[in-house]
Parts: sequence; structure tokens; C-alpha cells
Amino acid sequence: MDDGWQSRVRITPSNVESLACRKRFSTLYIQNSWPNAAPCREAMMGVGVHVILKNVYDHTNGPLPNLDQLDLFSRLAFPRSRYESGEKRNEDIATAVRWVRSYVAQDPDVEYTIGVERTLTVPISLGGEFLCRIEARLDRLIVRPDTPHELTVVDFKAGRGGVREEPACIMLLVAKKCLPEFETYALETHYLGDCLRPPVRITPTDVRGVWPNIQRRIRRVYRATAFPAEPGEICRRFCPMLSSCQPEAPKAELVELGNAFTDG
Ligand code: SF4
Repeated sequence: MDDGWQSRVRITPSNVESLACRKRFSTLYIQNSWPNAAPCREAMMGVGVHVILKNVYDHTNGPLPNLDQLDLFSRLAFPRSRYESGEKRNEDIATAVRWVRSYVAQDPDVEYTIGVERTLTVPISLGGEFLCRIEARLDRLIVRPDTPHELTVVDFKAGRGGVREEPACIMLLVAKKCLPEFETYALETHYLGDCLRPPVRITPTDVRGVWPNIQRRIRRVYRATAFPAEPGEICRRFCPMLSSCQPEAPKAELVELGNAFTDG
């Protein structure tokens, strides 16, 4: 393992839960060693939808929403090279375009969008000593006219995943530290799909007490001298090493694959 990995590896909404198992965190995020897996169509859909929405809500592309260029955005979001057939790619493009159109059609905040895909990083220290960096990509930022002092961070989710408190806490913390000009902060998960689920809204009050737990886990992993397997509930939250590390464990949670890749 390389020296000084602590200043290179960042804690993100996607990897924060992996701190529960030192082997998993070390293998995937310190050594960056991911078991080979076939491309997952659900994950590609999640990534593609994020790319389209980024362009649709990006002021630099023109007046919002930029639906005139949807055709171009969607072709760029689903590269030909990732698909074994043009037919499957076209199917996914058609689905993504349908989801984006129906999301935008019911969106009351189009004109209140102040930013898209902001990746922000915060250094964290403890007792005056550098501990780690936390980082989050904020999909869309909204300031509504009736609450001009509140920043709403939108997290797009294409799939069935629910909202989990540790990733939510990281996103809110990064927003607050990097964009401190607001008085209040909220995180809204906006779902994309054929049947639009209502958004889920989380405020710092909802995740009170979560950050101290995360800090404890960061300290435990970042100061570790050994990285053993630590089986538990975390194994069932999509671990790509599950079959080699815990062959007896039920594989029921493999459905989380797409959600894990599309998080954040
Ligand atoms: S299967 Fe469980 S114990 Fe093994 S690396 Fe994954 S999370 Fe850790």
C-alpha cells in the first residue's frame, strides 16, 4: 500500500459506508482494485441520465431547460463503445429521454437553478491535525424565491435506491462548508423513472449525530495498520468481493449494484 494514501483518498457519498469494513475500503479505494465485472446496464443508465440532466440544467448551454439539444446530449451520454449492440443503446437512450422529459415537465424550479455538477472538497482536521478530505459532487443547486437564504442540493437518483443517512450527511456537510453564504441547507433526492416518486427532503436536523460516527470510522480506518475483513451488514450492501470473501453470504443485495455506481 502506498505511503500517504490518506491525503489522496477522499471520503465521498459513494464510499463513506465502506468505512465499516477495512478490507473493503482498502481494496476498493486505497488500492483501487475492483474485481472485474461485466458492464451493468442499470449503472450505465444512471450515469447517462446524470449526464443528460447536467446539460439540460446547465446555464452555459442556453436558456433553461435546454431541451432543444436533448437529442445531442443523450447521444453523448450513452457512448456507442459501451454497448454490445446499437439496438440496446437506442433502447436506453429512448428510456433516458422519456425520464428526463417527464422530470422536467413537472419541475417547478427550472429557473431557480444556480448550478450543476459542482464537485467540492473540504479538508477535515481533528485536534489541529489533518485527518482527510471529504468530497461530493452536487448534481444540481437550487435557490427558491420564497426561501432565498436556503440552498437546496438536488441529488438525482435513477433507480430504486433509498436515501441513506451517511451519504446525505456528507453532501450536506460539503455544501455547507464550501458554499457558506446560505443560512440553511437541504438535500432533496429527485427520482427519475417511468413512475416519478415524490422527492425526499433531508435537512441537517435529520442527520444530527451522524457526522461524529463517520468521523470515528474515518479515524479508525485512516490510522489502521491492518485491513482485515469485517463482515456484517455492510457485506449485503453491494460488496463486489462478496463471493470471494464471504462465499456463504446470501447474494440478495446484488440488486444494489446499479445504485452503488449511480450514487452522488
Ligand atoms: S464481503 Fe463483507 S467482509 Fe468481505 S470485503 Fe466485503 S464488506 Fe468486507
